Amino acid sequence: MQKIQMTTPLVEMDGDEMTRVLWQQIKDKLILPFVDLKTEYYDLGLPHRDETNDQVTVDSANATKKYGVAVKCATITPNAQRMTEYNLHQMWKSPNGTIRAMLDGTVFRAPILVSGVKPTVRTWELPITIARHAYGDVYRNTEIRVPGAGKAELVFTGEDGTEIRKPIFDFKGPGVLQGLHNLDKSIVSFAHACFRFALDKKQDLWFSTKDTISKTYDHTFKDIFQEIYDRDYKEAFEAAGITYFYTLIDDAVARVVRSKGGFIWACKNYDGDVMSDMVATAFGSLAMMTSVLVSPDGKYEYEAAHGTVTRHYYRYLKGEETSTNPVATIFAWSGALRKRGELDNLPDLVEYADLLEQATLGTIENGIMTKDLALLWNGECTAVNSTQFLDAIAENLAAAYEEDDEDDAEYMTLTLPDGSKADYELVYRAQLGEDEYAVLVPADDEDMDVLVLQVIYDDEANEEAFVEADPEAAATVFDLFRDDCADMYNFVDEDEE
Ligand code: NAP
Ligand code: MG
Repeated sequence: MQKIQMTTPLVEMDGDEMTRVLWQQIKDKLILPFVDLKTEYYDLGLPHRDETNDQVTVDSANATKKYGVAVKCATITPNAQRMTEYNLHQMWKSPNGTIRAMLDGTVFRAPILVSGVKPTVRTWELPITIARHAYGDVYRNTEIRVPGAGKAELVFTGEDGTEIRKPIFDFKGPGVLQGLHNLDKSIVSFAHACFRFALDKKQDLWFSTKDTISKTYDHTFKDIFQEIYDRDYKEAFEAAGITYFYTLIDDAVARVVRSKGGFIWACKNYDGDVMSDMVATAFGSLAMMTSVLVSPDGKYEYEAAHGTVTRHYYRYLKGEETSTNPVATIFAWSGALRKRGELDNLPDLVEYADLLEQATLGTIENGIMTKDLALLWNGECTAVNSTQFLDAIAENLAAAYEEDDEDDAEYMTLTLPDGSKADYELVYRAQLGEDEYAVLVPADDEDMDVLVLQVIYDDEANEEAFVEADPEAAATVFDLFRDDCADMYNFVDEDEE
Protein backbone atom coordinates (compact mmCIF):
# COMPACT_ATOMS: atom_id res chain seq x y z
CA MET A 1 0.00 0.00 0.00
CA GLN A 2 1.02 3.61 -0.44
CA LYS A 3 1.96 5.47 2.74
CA ILE A 4 -0.65 7.93 3.96
CA GLN A 5 0.37 11.52 3.34
CA MET A 6 0.11 14.36 5.85
CA THR A 7 -0.05 18.08 5.11
CA THR A 8 0.52 19.85 8.45
CA PRO A 9 3.11 18.58 10.94
CA LEU A 10 2.09 17.22 14.30
CA VAL A 11 3.91 18.68 17.29
CA GLU A 12 5.79 15.71 18.77
CA MET A 13 6.92 16.01 22.40
CA ASP A 14 9.22 13.15 23.35
CA GLY A 15 9.61 12.23 27.01
CA ASP A 16 11.35 10.04 29.57
CA GLU A 17 12.16 6.55 30.79
CA MET A 18 9.97 3.56 29.86
CA THR A 19 7.46 5.64 27.93
CA ARG A 20 10.32 7.08 25.84
CA VAL A 21 11.36 3.53 24.94
CA LEU A 22 7.77 2.64 24.00
CA TRP A 23 7.42 5.93 22.07
CA GLN A 24 10.16 4.93 19.61
CA GLN A 25 8.80 1.40 19.22
CA ILE A 26 5.27 2.66 18.58
CA LYS A 27 6.60 4.92 15.83
CA ASP A 28 8.80 2.22 14.28
CA LYS A 29 6.30 -0.62 14.39
CA LEU A 30 2.87 1.00 14.15
CA ILE A 31 3.16 4.40 12.48
CA LEU A 32 6.12 4.72 10.10
CA PRO A 33 5.22 1.62 7.99
CA PHE A 34 1.79 3.15 7.27
CA VAL A 35 2.07 6.92 7.48
CA ASP A 36 4.50 9.33 5.86
CA LEU A 37 4.79 10.92 9.30
CA LYS A 38 5.37 14.65 9.46
CA THR A 39 6.22 16.00 12.90
CA GLU A 40 7.95 18.96 14.43
CA TYR A 41 10.03 17.20 17.08
CA TYR A 42 10.68 18.57 20.57
CA ASP A 43 12.74 16.52 23.00
CA LEU A 44 11.13 17.04 26.41
CA GLY A 45 13.26 14.29 27.93
CA LEU A 46 14.68 15.59 31.23
CA PRO A 47 18.34 15.82 30.05
CA HIS A 48 17.36 18.06 27.13
CA ARG A 49 15.00 20.18 29.25
CA ASP A 50 17.94 20.73 31.58
CA GLU A 51 20.32 21.59 28.71
CA THR A 52 17.90 24.17 27.31
CA ASN A 53 16.92 25.63 30.71
CA ASP A 54 13.44 24.26 30.02
CA GLN A 55 13.14 26.50 26.94
CA VAL A 56 12.25 23.40 24.87
CA THR A 57 9.01 23.01 26.88
CA VAL A 58 8.02 26.60 26.16
CA ASP A 59 8.92 26.16 22.47
CA SER A 60 6.82 23.02 22.21
CA ALA A 61 3.82 24.80 23.74
CA ASN A 62 4.25 27.68 21.26
CA ALA A 63 4.42 25.18 18.40
CA THR A 64 1.13 23.69 19.65
CA LYS A 65 -0.41 27.15 19.52
CA LYS A 66 0.87 27.51 15.96
CA TYR A 67 -0.08 24.11 14.49
CA GLY A 68 -3.03 23.20 16.72
CA VAL A 69 -2.31 19.52 17.49
CA ALA A 70 0.38 17.92 19.67
CA VAL A 71 1.16 14.44 20.98
CA LYS A 72 3.14 14.16 24.22
CA CYS A 73 5.08 11.34 25.83
CA ALA A 74 5.07 11.12 29.64
CA THR A 75 7.82 13.18 31.27
CA ILE A 76 9.56 13.25 34.64
CA THR A 77 8.55 16.06 36.99
CA PRO A 78 11.80 16.50 38.91
CA ASN A 79 11.97 16.16 42.70
CA ALA A 80 14.99 16.14 45.03
CA GLN A 81 15.92 12.57 44.11
CA ARG A 82 15.84 13.37 40.37
CA MET A 83 18.14 16.37 40.97
CA THR A 84 20.99 13.99 41.85
CA GLU A 85 19.93 11.18 39.48
CA TYR A 86 20.09 13.52 36.46
CA ASN A 87 22.57 16.06 37.88
CA LEU A 88 20.14 18.89 37.15
CA HIS A 89 20.87 22.63 37.19
CA GLN A 90 17.47 23.38 38.67
CA MET A 91 14.33 21.59 39.86
CA TRP A 92 12.37 22.29 36.66
CA LYS A 93 8.63 22.69 36.93
CA SER A 94 6.21 20.07 35.60
CA PRO A 95 6.14 20.34 31.77
CA ASN A 96 2.43 19.55 31.86
CA GLY A 97 1.87 22.49 34.21
CA THR A 98 3.86 24.82 31.92
CA ILE A 99 2.04 23.68 28.77
CA ARG A 100 -1.38 23.83 30.46
CA ALA A 101 -0.74 27.36 31.69
CA MET A 102 0.44 28.53 28.25
CA LEU A 103 -2.53 26.99 26.42
CA ASP A 104 -4.99 27.94 29.18
CA GLY A 105 -6.37 24.47 28.67
CA THR A 106 -8.75 22.02 30.29
CA VAL A 107 -7.76 18.37 30.68
CA PHE A 108 -10.22 15.67 29.61
CA ARG A 109 -9.54 12.13 30.82
CA ALA A 110 -11.31 9.11 29.38
CA PRO A 111 -10.84 5.37 29.91
CA ILE A 112 -10.25 3.01 26.97
CA LEU A 113 -12.71 0.12 27.23
CA VAL A 114 -12.11 -3.46 26.10
CA SER A 115 -14.60 -6.26 26.40
CA GLY A 116 -12.98 -8.72 28.78
CA VAL A 117 -12.05 -6.09 31.34
CA LYS A 118 -15.33 -5.36 33.09
CA PRO A 119 -15.79 -2.06 34.92
CA THR A 120 -16.39 -2.43 38.66
CA VAL A 121 -19.67 -0.59 38.19
CA ARG A 122 -21.93 -3.13 36.45
CA THR A 123 -24.04 -0.62 34.52
CA TRP A 124 -21.11 1.18 32.83
CA GLU A 125 -20.93 0.24 29.15
CA LEU A 126 -19.42 3.40 27.64
CA PRO A 127 -16.52 5.57 28.77
CA ILE A 128 -17.10 8.47 31.16
CA THR A 129 -14.86 11.43 30.42
CA ILE A 130 -13.95 13.71 33.31
CA ALA A 131 -13.28 17.37 32.52
CA ARG A 132 -11.50 18.90 35.47
CA HIS A 133 -11.24 22.66 35.97
CA ALA A 134 -7.53 23.10 36.63
CA TYR A 135 -7.42 26.51 38.31
CA GLY A 136 -8.02 27.88 41.80
CA ASP A 137 -10.32 26.85 44.66
CA VAL A 138 -8.61 24.80 47.37
CA TYR A 139 -5.46 24.38 45.17
CA ARG A 140 -4.70 28.10 45.55
CA ASN A 141 -6.04 28.67 49.04
CA THR A 142 -4.88 30.63 52.04
CA GLU A 143 -5.33 28.94 55.38
CA ILE A 144 -5.11 29.95 59.02
CA ARG A 145 -4.86 27.70 62.04
CA VAL A 146 -7.04 29.71 64.38
CA PRO A 147 -5.31 29.71 67.78
CA GLY A 148 -8.27 30.70 69.96
CA ALA A 149 -11.23 33.03 70.41
CA GLY A 150 -11.52 35.88 67.90
CA LYS A 151 -13.43 37.26 64.94
CA ALA A 152 -12.87 36.13 61.33
CA GLU A 153 -13.95 38.40 58.47
CA LEU A 154 -13.77 38.25 54.66
CA VAL A 155 -12.46 41.56 53.26
CA PHE A 156 -12.10 42.69 49.65
CA THR A 157 -10.47 46.07 48.96
CA GLY A 158 -11.13 47.45 45.47
CA GLU A 159 -8.46 49.37 43.52
CA ASP A 160 -10.36 52.57 44.36
CA GLY A 161 -10.25 51.69 48.04
CA THR A 162 -13.89 50.59 48.37
CA GLU A 163 -14.21 47.83 50.88
CA ILE A 164 -16.53 44.83 50.98
CA ARG A 165 -16.53 43.21 54.41
CA LYS A 166 -18.46 40.16 55.62
CA PRO A 167 -18.29 38.31 58.92
CA ILE A 168 -17.16 34.69 58.67
CA PHE A 169 -17.36 33.48 62.24
CA ASP A 170 -16.99 34.52 65.86
CA PHE A 171 -14.58 31.95 67.21
CA LYS A 172 -15.04 31.07 70.87
CA GLY A 173 -12.02 28.75 70.77
CA PRO A 174 -9.38 27.32 68.36
CA GLY A 175 -10.28 26.14 64.85
CA VAL A 176 -9.33 26.43 61.16
CA LEU A 177 -10.03 28.99 58.45
CA GLN A 178 -9.46 29.10 54.68
CA GLY A 179 -9.87 31.60 51.85
CA LEU A 180 -10.54 30.48 48.25
CA HIS A 181 -10.82 32.29 44.95
CA ASN A 182 -11.53 31.77 41.29
CA LEU A 183 -11.70 34.00 38.21
CA ASP A 184 -14.49 34.64 35.71
CA LYS A 185 -11.90 34.44 32.93
CA SER A 186 -10.81 30.96 33.98
CA ILE A 187 -14.36 29.68 34.45
CA VAL A 188 -15.33 31.06 31.03
CA SER A 189 -12.37 29.26 29.39
CA PHE A 190 -13.29 26.07 31.19
CA ALA A 191 -16.90 26.32 30.01
CA HIS A 192 -15.92 26.91 26.37
CA ALA A 193 -13.47 24.01 26.44
CA CYS A 194 -16.19 21.69 27.82
CA PHE A 195 -18.89 22.74 25.34
CA ARG A 196 -16.50 22.44 22.40
CA PHE A 197 -15.27 19.06 23.53
CA ALA A 198 -18.84 17.76 23.91
CA LEU A 199 -19.63 18.89 20.35
CA ASP A 200 -16.42 17.35 19.09
CA LYS A 201 -17.25 14.01 20.76
CA LYS A 202 -21.00 14.30 20.14
CA GLN A 203 -21.61 13.37 23.78
CA ASP A 204 -23.85 14.93 26.42
CA LEU A 205 -22.21 17.31 28.87
CA TRP A 206 -22.97 17.18 32.59
CA PHE A 207 -21.85 19.85 35.02
CA SER A 208 -22.22 19.76 38.77
CA THR A 209 -21.43 22.04 41.71
CA LYS A 210 -22.93 22.63 45.15
CA ASP A 211 -24.75 25.85 44.26
CA THR A 212 -27.57 25.36 46.79
CA ILE A 213 -25.06 25.67 49.63
CA SER A 214 -22.49 27.94 47.96
CA LYS A 215 -24.99 30.52 46.73
CA THR A 216 -22.41 32.95 45.35
CA TYR A 217 -19.20 30.99 44.66
CA ASP A 218 -20.53 27.78 43.12
CA HIS A 219 -23.61 29.57 41.79
CA THR A 220 -21.33 31.78 39.68
CA PHE A 221 -19.89 28.66 38.01
CA LYS A 222 -23.43 27.47 37.27
CA ASP A 223 -24.51 30.88 35.90
CA ILE A 224 -21.46 31.32 33.69
CA PHE A 225 -21.91 27.87 32.16
CA GLN A 226 -25.63 28.50 31.54
CA GLU A 227 -25.04 31.93 30.00
CA ILE A 228 -22.37 30.65 27.63
CA TYR A 229 -24.47 27.62 26.71
CA ASP A 230 -27.56 29.70 25.90
CA ARG A 231 -25.60 32.27 23.96
CA ASP A 232 -23.02 30.19 22.05
CA TYR A 233 -23.80 26.49 22.04
CA LYS A 234 -27.52 25.76 22.46
CA GLU A 235 -28.24 25.63 18.72
CA ALA A 236 -25.19 23.55 17.92
CA PHE A 237 -26.01 21.10 20.74
CA GLU A 238 -29.58 20.72 19.51
CA ALA A 239 -28.37 20.19 15.94
CA ALA A 240 -25.91 17.53 17.16
CA GLY A 241 -28.63 15.82 19.22
CA ILE A 242 -26.75 16.22 22.51
CA THR A 243 -27.75 17.90 25.76
CA TYR A 244 -26.23 20.09 28.43
CA PHE A 245 -27.35 19.02 31.87
CA TYR A 246 -26.64 20.78 35.17
CA THR A 247 -27.25 19.10 38.51
CA LEU A 248 -25.99 19.20 42.10
CA ILE A 249 -22.72 17.33 42.70
CA ASP A 250 -24.29 14.76 45.05
CA ASP A 251 -27.12 14.08 42.61
CA ALA A 252 -24.52 13.81 39.80
CA VAL A 253 -22.53 11.19 41.73
CA ALA A 254 -25.66 9.07 42.24
CA ARG A 255 -26.66 9.39 38.58
CA VAL A 256 -23.14 8.60 37.31
CA VAL A 257 -23.11 5.31 39.23
CA ARG A 258 -26.53 4.35 37.83
CA SER A 259 -25.71 5.48 34.28
CA LYS A 260 -24.39 3.42 31.39
CA GLY A 261 -21.71 6.03 30.69
CA GLY A 262 -21.01 7.74 27.38
CA PHE A 263 -20.96 11.38 28.53
CA ILE A 264 -18.60 14.10 29.67
CA TRP A 265 -18.69 15.12 33.31
CA ALA A 266 -17.35 18.61 33.97
CA CYS A 267 -16.16 19.06 37.55
CA LYS A 268 -14.76 21.84 39.66
CA ASN A 269 -11.10 21.45 40.53
CA TYR A 270 -11.45 19.38 43.71
CA ASP A 271 -14.40 17.30 42.49
CA GLY A 272 -12.45 16.51 39.31
CA ASP A 273 -9.35 15.49 41.25
CA VAL A 274 -11.30 13.07 43.43
CA MET A 275 -13.77 11.77 40.86
CA SER A 276 -11.19 11.11 38.10
CA ASP A 277 -9.31 8.67 40.36
CA MET A 278 -12.57 6.97 41.27
CA VAL A 279 -13.72 6.69 37.64
CA ALA A 280 -10.28 5.54 36.37
CA THR A 281 -9.98 2.80 38.97
CA ALA A 282 -13.56 1.64 38.51
CA PHE A 283 -12.99 1.31 34.75
CA GLY A 284 -9.89 -0.88 35.24
CA SER A 285 -6.39 0.55 34.95
CA LEU A 286 -4.42 3.78 34.76
CA ALA A 287 -2.55 2.28 31.81
CA MET A 288 -5.85 2.41 29.86
CA MET A 289 -6.61 6.08 30.46
CA THR A 290 -6.13 8.78 27.83
CA SER A 291 -5.80 12.45 28.47
CA VAL A 292 -6.27 15.42 26.17
CA LEU A 293 -5.63 19.07 26.91
CA VAL A 294 -8.00 21.37 25.01
CA SER A 295 -7.51 25.12 24.89
CA PRO A 296 -10.49 27.49 24.63
CA ASP A 297 -9.43 28.42 21.08
CA GLY A 298 -9.38 24.77 20.00
CA LYS A 299 -5.75 23.58 20.30
CA TYR A 300 -5.27 19.92 21.29
CA GLU A 301 -2.51 18.07 23.12
CA TYR A 302 -2.90 14.29 23.47
CA GLU A 303 -1.10 12.09 26.01
CA ALA A 304 -1.39 9.02 28.21
CA ALA A 305 -2.68 9.71 31.72
CA HIS A 306 0.06 7.63 33.39
CA GLY A 307 3.66 8.60 34.14
CA THR A 308 7.02 7.36 32.83
CA VAL A 309 6.66 3.95 34.58
CA THR A 310 10.02 4.33 36.36
CA ARG A 311 10.00 0.93 38.07
CA HIS A 312 9.76 -0.85 34.70
CA TYR A 313 12.48 1.40 33.24
CA TYR A 314 15.01 0.45 35.91
CA ARG A 315 14.33 -3.21 35.09
CA TYR A 316 14.69 -2.43 31.36
CA LEU A 317 18.10 -0.77 32.03
CA LYS A 318 19.25 -3.98 33.72
CA GLY A 319 18.39 -5.80 30.49
CA GLU A 320 15.22 -7.41 31.85
CA GLU A 321 12.10 -7.82 29.77
CA THR A 322 9.19 -5.59 30.73
CA SER A 323 5.51 -5.93 30.10
CA THR A 324 4.63 -2.24 30.09
CA ASN A 325 1.25 -1.39 28.61
CA PRO A 326 1.60 0.95 25.59
CA VAL A 327 -2.16 1.31 24.91
CA ALA A 328 -2.69 4.81 26.33
CA THR A 329 0.39 6.08 24.45
CA ILE A 330 -0.83 4.47 21.20
CA PHE A 331 -4.20 6.18 21.71
CA ALA A 332 -2.44 9.50 22.27
CA TRP A 333 -0.91 9.08 18.79
CA SER A 334 -4.14 7.90 17.17
CA GLY A 335 -6.07 10.75 18.82
CA ALA A 336 -3.60 13.35 17.56
CA LEU A 337 -3.36 11.88 14.04
CA ARG A 338 -7.17 11.63 13.80
CA LYS A 339 -7.53 15.28 14.86
CA ARG A 340 -4.86 16.31 12.32
CA GLY A 341 -6.73 14.31 9.66
CA GLU A 342 -10.03 15.99 10.54
CA LEU A 343 -8.54 19.49 10.51
CA ASP A 344 -6.66 18.93 7.23
CA ASN A 345 -9.47 16.99 5.61
CA LEU A 346 -7.44 13.78 5.16
CA PRO A 347 -9.92 10.87 5.38
CA ASP A 348 -7.12 8.28 4.96
CA LEU A 349 -5.37 9.58 8.06
CA VAL A 350 -8.63 9.48 10.04
CA GLU A 351 -9.20 5.91 8.83
CA TYR A 352 -5.66 4.98 9.85
CA ALA A 353 -6.31 6.27 13.39
CA ASP A 354 -9.51 4.20 13.58
CA LEU A 355 -7.77 1.06 12.28
CA LEU A 356 -4.83 1.50 14.67
CA GLU A 357 -7.21 1.68 17.64
CA GLN A 358 -9.22 -1.30 16.37
CA ALA A 359 -6.04 -3.33 15.84
CA THR A 360 -4.90 -2.49 19.40
CA LEU A 361 -8.19 -3.43 21.03
CA GLY A 362 -8.54 -6.42 18.71
CA THR A 363 -5.18 -7.78 19.88
CA ILE A 364 -6.35 -7.62 23.50
CA GLU A 365 -9.72 -9.10 22.64
CA ASN A 366 -7.88 -11.99 20.96
CA GLY A 367 -6.32 -12.69 24.38
CA ILE A 368 -2.86 -11.16 23.84
CA MET A 369 -2.03 -8.43 26.36
CA THR A 370 0.47 -6.97 28.80
CA LYS A 371 0.66 -8.24 32.39
CA ASP A 372 -1.33 -5.42 34.00
CA LEU A 373 -4.36 -6.30 31.83
CA ALA A 374 -3.90 -10.05 32.16
CA LEU A 375 -4.48 -9.60 35.91
CA LEU A 376 -7.87 -7.98 35.22
CA TRP A 377 -8.87 -10.31 32.40
CA ASN A 378 -11.95 -12.54 32.55
CA GLY A 379 -10.99 -15.87 31.02
CA GLU A 380 -7.92 -17.24 29.25
CA CYS A 381 -5.22 -14.98 27.90
CA THR A 382 -1.52 -14.78 27.09
CA ALA A 383 0.58 -12.17 28.91
CA VAL A 384 3.38 -10.94 26.61
CA ASN A 385 6.15 -8.35 26.85
CA SER A 386 5.77 -4.87 25.35
CA THR A 387 7.63 -5.70 22.13
CA GLN A 388 5.62 -8.86 21.48
CA PHE A 389 2.42 -6.93 22.14
CA LEU A 390 3.36 -4.16 19.68
CA ASP A 391 4.35 -6.78 17.07
CA ALA A 392 0.94 -8.45 17.44
CA ILE A 393 -0.80 -5.08 16.95
CA ALA A 394 1.34 -4.34 13.87
CA GLU A 395 0.33 -7.69 12.37
CA ASN A 396 -3.36 -6.97 12.99
CA LEU A 397 -3.05 -3.52 11.51
CA ALA A 398 -1.37 -4.80 8.35
CA ALA A 399 -4.10 -7.45 8.02
CA ALA A 400 -6.80 -4.79 8.42
CA TYR A 401 -5.30 -2.86 5.50
CA GLU A 402 -5.14 -5.97 3.33
CA GLU A 403 -8.81 -6.70 4.02
CA ASP A 404 -9.60 -3.09 3.31
CA ASP A 405 -7.88 -3.36 -0.08
CA GLU A 406 -9.87 -6.48 -0.90
CA ASP A 407 -13.12 -4.82 0.13
CA ASP A 408 -12.35 -1.94 -2.19
CA ALA A 409 -11.66 -4.19 -5.17
CA GLU A 410 -14.35 -4.24 -7.82
CA TYR A 411 -14.82 -7.66 -9.40
CA MET A 412 -17.24 -8.35 -12.23
CA THR A 413 -18.13 -11.05 -14.70
CA LEU A 414 -18.07 -9.90 -18.33
CA THR A 415 -19.58 -11.57 -21.38
CA LEU A 416 -16.96 -11.53 -24.14
CA PRO A 417 -17.70 -11.07 -27.89
CA ASP A 418 -17.46 -14.85 -28.40
CA GLY A 419 -20.23 -15.35 -25.80
CA SER A 420 -17.96 -16.80 -23.12
CA LYS A 421 -17.88 -15.32 -19.61
CA ALA A 422 -14.79 -14.28 -17.62
CA ASP A 423 -14.05 -12.60 -14.26
CA TYR A 424 -12.35 -9.24 -14.31
CA GLU A 425 -11.14 -6.78 -11.70
CA LEU A 426 -11.61 -3.07 -12.27
CA VAL A 427 -8.23 -1.61 -11.38
CA TYR A 428 -8.23 1.90 -12.83
CA ARG A 429 -10.61 4.67 -13.85
CA ALA A 430 -9.88 7.70 -16.01
CA GLN A 431 -11.88 10.63 -17.29
CA LEU A 432 -11.30 11.91 -20.84
CA GLY A 433 -13.39 14.99 -21.42
CA GLU A 434 -17.01 14.04 -20.68
CA ASP A 435 -16.40 10.32 -20.89
CA GLU A 436 -15.28 7.88 -18.24
CA TYR A 437 -13.17 4.81 -18.95
CA ALA A 438 -12.18 1.77 -16.91
CA VAL A 439 -9.23 -0.59 -17.13
CA LEU A 440 -10.07 -4.20 -16.31
CA VAL A 441 -7.58 -6.97 -15.74
CA PRO A 442 -8.47 -10.66 -15.81
CA ALA A 443 -9.03 -11.97 -12.29
CA ASP A 444 -7.65 -15.50 -12.81
CA ASP A 445 -6.37 -16.16 -16.30
CA GLU A 446 -3.21 -14.17 -16.88
CA ASP A 447 -3.16 -14.99 -20.60
CA MET A 448 -6.33 -13.01 -21.27
CA ASP A 449 -6.18 -9.42 -22.46
CA VAL A 450 -6.37 -6.32 -20.33
CA LEU A 451 -9.51 -4.43 -21.40
CA VAL A 452 -10.17 -0.72 -21.65
CA LEU A 453 -13.92 -0.07 -21.72
CA GLN A 454 -16.07 3.02 -21.61
CA VAL A 455 -18.24 3.41 -18.50
CA ILE A 456 -21.80 4.60 -19.03
CA TYR A 457 -24.60 4.94 -16.55
CA ASP A 458 -27.51 2.62 -17.22
CA ASP A 459 -30.51 4.59 -15.90
CA GLU A 460 -32.88 1.65 -16.17
CA ALA A 461 -30.77 -0.78 -14.20
CA ASN A 462 -29.54 2.10 -11.99
CA GLU A 463 -25.95 0.92 -12.30
CA GLU A 464 -22.82 1.27 -14.34
CA ALA A 465 -22.50 -0.52 -17.64
CA PHE A 466 -19.34 -1.18 -19.69
CA VAL A 467 -19.28 -0.76 -23.46
CA GLU A 468 -16.61 -1.02 -26.12
CA ALA A 469 -14.37 2.05 -26.18
CA ASP A 470 -13.22 4.04 -29.17
CA PRO A 471 -9.73 2.55 -29.97
CA GLU A 472 -7.95 5.91 -29.83
CA ALA A 473 -9.43 6.73 -26.38
CA ALA A 474 -8.65 3.21 -25.22
CA ALA A 475 -5.00 3.66 -26.16
CA THR A 476 -4.81 7.00 -24.32
CA VAL A 477 -6.38 5.53 -21.19
CA PHE A 478 -4.07 2.54 -21.32
CA ASP A 479 -1.05 4.88 -21.42
CA LEU A 480 -2.37 6.81 -18.39
CA PHE A 481 -2.88 3.54 -16.54
CA ARG A 482 0.61 2.40 -17.41
CA ASP A 483 2.17 5.67 -16.19
CA ASP A 484 0.20 5.79 -12.93
CA CYS A 485 0.44 2.13 -12.03
CA ALA A 486 3.90 1.27 -13.31
CA ASP A 487 5.00 0.23 -9.82
CA MET A 488 2.09 -2.20 -9.36
CA TYR A 489 2.18 -4.06 -12.67
CA ASN A 490 5.04 -5.37 -14.74
CA PHE A 491 4.47 -4.02 -18.20
CA VAL A 492 6.19 -5.87 -21.01
CA ASP A 493 6.81 -3.76 -24.03
CA GLU A 494 5.54 -5.89 -26.93
CA ASP A 495 7.88 -4.30 -29.46
CA GLU A 496 10.90 -5.42 -27.49
CA GLU A 497 9.59 -8.91 -26.89
P1 NAP B 1 3.53 5.92 36.83
O1 NAP B 1 4.66 6.14 35.92
O2 NAP B 1 2.18 6.14 36.27
O3 NAP B 1 3.63 4.44 37.38
C1 NAP B 1 3.09 4.00 38.59
C2 NAP B 1 2.87 2.48 38.55
O4 NAP B 1 1.66 2.23 37.84
C3 NAP B 1 3.93 1.72 37.79
O5 NAP B 1 5.04 1.42 38.58
C4 NAP B 1 3.15 0.52 37.31
O6 NAP B 1 2.92 -0.40 38.39
C5 NAP B 1 1.80 1.12 36.98
N1 NAP B 1 1.74 1.61 35.60
C6 NAP B 1 1.58 2.88 35.17
N2 NAP B 1 1.55 2.94 33.86
C7 NAP B 1 1.68 1.67 33.41
C8 NAP B 1 1.74 1.07 32.11
N3 NAP B 1 1.64 1.82 31.00
N4 NAP B 1 1.89 -0.25 32.02
C9 NAP B 1 2.00 -1.02 33.11
N5 NAP B 1 1.96 -0.52 34.38
C10 NAP B 1 1.80 0.81 34.51
O7 NAP B 1 3.64 6.88 38.11
P2 NAP B 1 4.86 7.22 39.08
O8 NAP B 1 5.73 6.00 39.25
O9 NAP B 1 4.26 7.85 40.24
O10 NAP B 1 5.72 8.31 38.32
C11 NAP B 1 6.86 8.06 37.53
C12 NAP B 1 7.33 9.34 36.86
O11 NAP B 1 6.33 9.80 35.96
C13 NAP B 1 7.57 10.49 37.84
O12 NAP B 1 8.84 11.07 37.56
C14 NAP B 1 6.45 11.48 37.55
O13 NAP B 1 6.92 12.81 37.68
C15 NAP B 1 6.10 11.19 36.13
N6 NAP B 1 4.68 11.45 35.78
C16 NAP B 1 4.48 12.04 34.57
C17 NAP B 1 3.18 12.26 34.11
C18 NAP B 1 2.99 12.89 32.76
O14 NAP B 1 3.95 13.25 32.11
N7 NAP B 1 1.78 13.04 32.31
C19 NAP B 1 2.11 11.84 34.88
C20 NAP B 1 2.35 11.21 36.10
C21 NAP B 1 3.64 11.02 36.53
P3 NAP B 1 3.86 -1.68 38.67
O15 NAP B 1 5.24 -1.16 38.90
O16 NAP B 1 3.23 -2.25 39.90
O17 NAP B 1 3.79 -2.58 37.48
MG1 MG C 1 -5.95 13.02 42.30
